[in-house]
Amino acid sequence: MIILKTAHVVSMGVIEANCFILYNEFTKACIIIDAGEDAQAVIDKVTTLDLRPELLINTHGHFDHIMADDIVRTTYNIPLAIHEADSDMLSDPYKNASVMIDKEVKIKKPEILLKEIEYEASFCKYSIIHTPGHTQGSVCVLVANKWLFAGDTLFTGSIGRTDFVGGSMAMMKESLKKLKKLDKNIEVFPGHGTFTTIGEELAKNIYLR
Ligand SMILES: [Zn+2]
Ligand SMILES: [Zn+2]
Repeated sequence: MIILKTAHVVSMGVIEANCFILYNEFTKACIIIDAGEDAQAVIDKVTTLDLRPELLINTHGHFDHIMADDIVRTTYNIPLAIHEADSDMLSDPYKNASVMIDKEVKIKKPEILLKEIEYEASFCKYSIIHTPGHTQGSVCVLVANKWLFAGDTLFTGSIGRTDFVGGSMAMMKESLKKLKKLDKNIEVFPGHGTFTTIGEELAKNIYLR
């Protein structure tokens, strides 16, 4: 029986990043993946679903994914997790690219530095796949070998840009090799745009050839 669910919030900020909420519908515990730019939208969704957040994960350190972090984590008194290679981006407006929008996004230090291992929340296990390329510390979060929260690494029909600070096409290619090996049936929830599956991307996405 599958008791895990996902909810989706589109952050109505400058770049409309996707925020995902992974939750157990019985215990109501949840993990928020990328708070995005709009803290109130995240909080409204958590309230509507009557959820109890226990962790906030950032797929990477760009401003469109992290801007609401501090409001969300203080609202629920939960830790923030990000890969160690992106942790410096949180408090650096140049590295997190918020200078591009004339804002100084500075997020407080994370409590958890993610590594490429399996973690256990109160209601599920999840694996962190380190997928540098878009940024040095980009990660994908794989849950129950069923859902992949891909951040800005893999999009429907495309991949994330590699020309920002810390980006690398060579690293991106290696990271995509990891994703190509995943089960075709895995649903993919990218950091922007529509959802897809590993199988669909293997068939249609030229970057996965
Ligand atoms: Zn990004
Ligand atoms: Zn993004």
